[in-house]
Amino acid sequence: MNKKLTIAIVAHDQRKADMVEWAVFNAETLSHHKLVCTGTTGSLIKKAFEERGIKAEIICMNSGPLGGDAQIAAMVVRHEINLAIFLIDDLNPQPHEADIQMLLRQCRIHNVPIACNRYSADLMITSTLWDEEDYVPTVPKYVKFNRK
Ligand code: PGA
Repeated sequence: MNKKLTIAIVAHDQRKADMVEWAVFNAETLSHHKLVCTGTTGSLIKKAFEERGIKAEIICMNSGPLGGDAQIAAMVVRHEINLAIFLIDDLNPQPHEADIQMLLRQCRIHNVPIACNRYSADLMITSTLWDEEDYVPTVPKYVKFNRK
């Protein structure tokens, strides 16, 4: 891929091991992009990369429960994020559920691709559409539907 992306990366506690494994697996690709992470997720990826001598631009926001998801959502609103990888813990309640829903909603509203599992993340970071000049993503339409 030629285009340098800004990729948001967030993983809930019980999904962090999966996220670090995913990031290491995709380290070569990720090292060409800018990674914007919630605090703890970012520090774990940084550590895993340093241990393996992988250089990458990793920016850590606040920890998720202390507003990290909200900071990333604000970046989505400002169109500063190209892609979000968000490994959500669907099996346990989170104290910052409101912020999680806000991040998901803003990605949908602003048409930002968001992967919530590793398979989707792999597909999205390997897409050839990123470099296609002629490809323009269609914006979501909200059209009144008349059910008769
Ligand atoms: P963390 O935040 O990476 O700081 O743990 C993730 C989250 O819980 O949203």
